[in-house]
Amino acid sequence: MTQGARATTRPGTPPREAATHCPYCALQCAMVLRENGRRVEVLPRQFPTNRGGLCQKGWTAAELLDHPDRLTTPLLRDRRGGELRPASWDEALDRVAAGIRAVQDRHGRDAVAVFGGGGLTNEKAYALGKFARVALRTRHIDYNGRWCMSSAAAAGLRAFGVDRGLPFPLADLGRAETLLLVGANPAETMPPLLRHLADQRARGGRLIVVDPRLTATARQADLHLQPLPGTDLAVANALLHIALSEGWVDRAYVAERTSGFDEVRRTVAGYWPAEVERLSGVPVADLEATARALATVDRAIVLTARGAEQHAKGVDTVAAFINLALALGLPGRPGSGYGCLTGQGNGQGGREHGQKADQLPGYRRIDDPAAREHVARVWGVPAEDLPGPGVPAYALLDSLGTATGPRALLVFGSNPVVSAPRAARIESRLRDLDLLVVADFLRSETAELADVVLPVAQWAEEDGTMTNLEGRVLRRRALREPPAGVRTDLAVLAALAARLEEGAAGGEGFPTDPHAVFEELRRASAGGPADYAGVTWDRVERDDGVFWPCPDPDGPDTPRLFAGSFPTPDGRARFHAVTHRPAAEEVSAEYPLHFTTGRVLAQYQSGAQTRRVDALRRAAPNGFVELHPDLADRLGVTEGDEVRVVSRRGELRAPARVSPAIRPDTVFAPFHWPGAARANSVTNDAVDPISGMPEFKICAVRVERA
Ligand code: SF4
Repeated sequence: MTQGARATTRPGTPPREAATHCPYCALQCAMVLRENGRRVEVLPRQFPTNRGGLCQKGWTAAELLDHPDRLTTPLLRDRRGGELRPASWDEALDRVAAGIRAVQDRHGRDAVAVFGGGGLTNEKAYALGKFARVALRTRHIDYNGRWCMSSAAAAGLRAFGVDRGLPFPLADLGRAETLLLVGANPAETMPPLLRHLADQRARGGRLIVVDPRLTATARQADLHLQPLPGTDLAVANALLHIALSEGWVDRAYVAERTSGFDEVRRTVAGYWPAEVERLSGVPVADLEATARALATVDRAIVLTARGAEQHAKGVDTVAAFINLALALGLPGRPGSGYGCLTGQGNGQGGREHGQKADQLPGYRRIDDPAAREHVARVWGVPAEDLPGPGVPAYALLDSLGTATGPRALLVFGSNPVVSAPRAARIESRLRDLDLLVVADFLRSETAELADVVLPVAQWAEEDGTMTNLEGRVLRRRALREPPAGVRTDLAVLAALAARLEEGAAGGEGFPTDPHAVFEELRRASAGGPADYAGVTWDRVERDDGVFWPCPDPDGPDTPRLFAGSFPTPDGRARFHAVTHRPAAEEVSAEYPLHFTTGRVLAQYQSGAQTRRVDALRRAAPNGFVELHPDLADRLGVTEGDEVRVVSRRGELRAPARVSPAIRPDTVFAPFHWPGAARANSVTNDAVDPISGMPEFKICAVRVERA
């Protein structure tokens, strides 16, 4: 079936059946879409990552294709406070182009900003970055991937010289004798991944989970460490302290393949397990058992995810776990290593091709003169015309509409009204703009604030590529054309570029055929750290994906990195000495509890899509606040009572879910819902100084019955 579907895929003649991948998370499970009349079925498809499995979100993904909420005509708002009304494409695009021109004429080129998304295909992410730099000539572009894993990206770059979520195929998890998951809950976020954990278990492997909640994943673990939120870094340093004390450090590996260990050794010497127990609540015996389980086997893997990363010290926290992995000699050995579980569908590819404020395609730095020359040549513009680096997502959003910030914003594939930290403030910034344009296929909460809404195609209506959590480039295939009235994001960018350039380079520089965009992306990324020059759509289809870097169409791709050396100037991985520091906001008499956020199985990200799917809405109809029975008793709260969670920035209201799975000093809420249950009304907007990633995972709150 898979081969047949591939055989019928030709540009311009969408098949009745398409072998593709799920639109949601970074596991990018393989599936087949089959059209029966108007009905589109989702069928399982074998692939090395999901092995035929899908979660409920994947099974129901096609429901949105013909959803009654689907946007099929542009919408315009004639005046502030007025209603959105239907408009023609010409009227809408003319309004956007005129608005951009007016803002830039008055306030300069940087007064227009672009905000992208980690769900956009590689082709769209690339075109969006080029559109910002070439058509708008603004330095202001960033994307919601900043929320997702930018701290792991920064820590990986510093240590290994490259940022690829998993530097090995996912199937390696099944070969690890010990697997340490830090702040990851794949049983709810990407359930098919558990097939690899089952392999690991079947081979006698051990699973250790670090999480402040006894999650569905932690329940399956041999050992669960339940630290206070914000103390993971200290836990990692204590594990390395124990490994050093016990003589478990791989001294030959450290000497031959790394640099900077001495300072780390001196730093972790102060992380006595008993003191870390007092700080984190993790018993010394569990710390020792974890260190032993990692250090005394041949193959061990350390994986971090949002729980470790979404902190104002997220980069340092990830660095602490990388230090541990390096000291034990894990990276570069088969079945061993360090990796990060990417969250969003194209979180990996989306940050490689120019959506990030400081990057050009191929994971090049925008402040590198040689990189600017190379990309400018591909784009046919003078290098000096390319703008410099912008600012990370939160700083960008927080500056909108202010005296020094952008006055116009174009949003593609993102819903910051729900997903940004301190969301009420960001909502008010969006309201202060002279022009807000949102390209989406549904009226998201952000689209509701827009001056212009542009209806764009969905995943099953476009060809393209995605890069999954392993750095494997995958083919997304169109099943059908977009409905009448809907355009692709690429067509929107081309039409806007043509209007802004008055028909000259604009239209030509922005092809609407995704394959043509990918061919240009290959040239632009050639020679960069994320080199796609050797990746072709044919090869992706033939080989079940291609792992970057792949510089040569006739040469090998790179499923495993770091076997012989690291892509650093001296070929060595770099240790970074890091120390624990408190969260940006500590508990107090007025706000005595820790608040943390996360996801549930049946919803995805801001929920704009999954909240509209019947089966998912039934499974997870609304937000909730999880609290421990002891805390509930103290507050006089019982299961289902409406509670208020109040921070210095705002409050959320939702029913209480009383559960011993959480620490008594911590409350949890999922972040998928808008309105009163919006978790990000409460979260802190402190960010990591290196990555710009916000501290979603901890702030101080009080909880009361509503
Ligand atoms: S695990 Fe992720 S990619 Fe797989 S079906 Fe679920 S949401 Fe889709």
